[in-house]
Amino acid sequence: MISVAIDGPSGAGKSSMARRLAAELGFTYVDTGAMYRAIGLYALRRGADPRDEAAVAALLPDITLDIQIMDGTQHVFLNGEDVSTAIRTEEAGMAASAVGTLAPVRAFLLETQRALARSRDVLMDGRDIGTVVLPDATLKIYLTASPAARAERRQKELAEKGQPADFATVLADIEARDWQDSHRAIAPLRRAEDAVLVDTSEMDIEASFAALRALVVKAQERA
Ligand code: C5P
Repeated sequence: MISVAIDGPSGAGKSSMARRLAAELGFTYVDTGAMYRAIGLYALRRGADPRDEAAVAALLPDITLDIQIMDGTQHVFLNGEDVSTAIRTEEAGMAASAVGTLAPVRAFLLETQRALARSRDVLMDGRDIGTVVLPDATLKIYLTASPAARAERRQKELAEKGQPADFATVLADIEARDWQDSHRAIAPLRRAEDAVLVDTSEMDIEASFAALRALVVKAQERA
């Protein structure tokens, strides 16, 4: 089995790049952020504080997460409900970042993530894939861009969705999430020593995609 781990901060374009690479090069795309988002969403719906370890841990037995790959796209089912769209809000993203700091949550998801990589060639994105989930991945990529570049892209994306937001707010959200993801005690966001660093601050989408594609193709040829 070939596995490609793509880690990096939020807004670096991991998921859009990974989805496209997977479709083009024959991998199954696994979005681990979506799993944290589903748990964050569940905590919000149940009125639990997503930072409260005891409260969130108490909810885990009530959660059945089912990850289904339909036409190469991952769908996340939370207790039977397809929440793939509902988890895409900023609120669910912040809740995901909060529940992601909790040991019981990370343990709950680790085996699901590893099992997916055992049965197929995966391109898995997240924060700790190269460092914790798949330490023996065939290829590790650390995809990043400056906070300002990421905020600019995010702002454009929101405007296209009809949700205009001011730059300072978007940048502050990105910086808050970066800080939370890289300063947590367990599985913090960091580049694995053997990960290839790709900084797309000065690259457009096509140049970023070409750089990543070349890395993955080389790994496939070597494997
Ligand atoms: O990538 P995405 O923005 O969907 O991730 C949402 C949040 O889930 C991240 O901010 C991060 O805190 C958490 N996460 C994580 N470990 C992963 C993937 C996501 O802690 N492997």
